[in-house]
Amino acid sequence: MSALEVLEGAAVLLASDGTIGAVGPEREVRAGAASAEVVEIDGVLFPGFVDCHTHAVFGAARLADQERRARGVGYKEIAAAGGGILSSMRDVRERPEDDLVDLTRRRLDRLLANGTTTVEVKSGYGLELEAELKQMRVIAALTGGAPAVVPTFLGAHEVPPEYRPHADEYIELVVREMLPAVERSKLARFCDVFCEPGVFTVAQSRRVLEAARRHGMGLKLHADELDPSGGAELAAALGAVTADHLAAISADGIAALAAGDTVAVLLPGTMMFLGRNSQAPGRRLVEAGAAVALATDFNPGSSPGMSLPLMATLAVSQAGLVPAEAVIAITANGAAGVGEAHSRGQIAPGFRADLALAAIRDWRELVYWYGTNVITEAWVEGAACHLGQGPVNFIV
Ligand SMILES: [Zn+2]
Repeated sequence: MSALEVLEGAAVLLASDGTIGAVGPEREVRAGAASAEVVEIDGVLFPGFVDCHTHAVFGAARLADQERRARGVGYKEIAAAGGGILSSMRDVRERPEDDLVDLTRRRLDRLLANGTTTVEVKSGYGLELEAELKQMRVIAALTGGAPAVVPTFLGAHEVPPEYRPHADEYIELVVREMLPAVERSKLARFCDVFCEPGVFTVAQSRRVLEAARRHGMGLKLHADELDPSGGAELAAALGAVTADHLAAISADGIAALAAGDTVAVLLPGTMMFLGRNSQAPGRRLVEAGAAVALATDFNPGSSPGMSLPLMATLAVSQAGLVPAEAVIAITANGAAGVGEAHSRGQIAPGFRADLALAAIRDWRELVYWYGTNVITEAWVEGAACHLGQGPVNFIV
């Protein structure tokens, strides 16, 4: 994961089909493409970042939750006071679809401005058939632009109030009604479940994911965020594309991810924002041989952050990754986290021409100047995005 290749004085040839035609020393690339239009850039050009875990379709921010948490109010009391995930559920159920499209588009613009050229977006604030489909249609409406969007159905994100305390009955609704409807509408590439004691058990998660697989969807799993319940082991056993969170992953879970192809997705912004003073064991996962990716978990409750470089800084400072591993984790391994390791996350011939330019001299500055955006330009499928950042001065 630390095998990062850095070229100096390089050029990248963008082919007309939106892929990368060539990359290498400037003189060589120019000699092979004499008629190509030339755009001079100064700085460090990265593969566009891939955010493989977000909940970007939501209505209002949850500012009151943050303030209550700062005053020491617990998760359950926040929910009882009208906050928490169910407040986002009520909001999404009531809010017009056009409004959600408009809000989500503006948030995707901010993700792009931070260098993210592909973003996975989940449903999961509807928790009833029509509201889940509404979220999936919002995601579909934003597909085909910049950043590129990968849709995930997360109907089993939480047990809605009308089904409590009968989570099994809600799981039946997800399996018998929601998944077939999502497949018919062709709105989801992946299916995800929130597997955590007190939300959905390993058995319930398995039931949903096995059904999703029969409907042709790839699998993802929110696993072992707060307690080691066997979520990572389940993700590995089912051949899921990712197992996400993992702050409480067990030794068996680490071994299971290391032995398989499931990508371990760490969400360090969430642990920081919630003030948990702990992180997933990134170093142990890397040493064991797992493929580690980083994502923002962008959502209104536990991680309203939109910067993958900041997640990389947190992974270096708090989860034991070295800078090269952190860059791989938001590029090549992020791409693996949406099943696109073969086509995104690298500047290499044949890969999509998704690029992010940073106003820095040394690539390591990307994970160094935390909290400031050094990205000045992005390209998605070869098209310049014109981020409107203005001329950004080099810091050193
Ligand atoms: Zn999540």
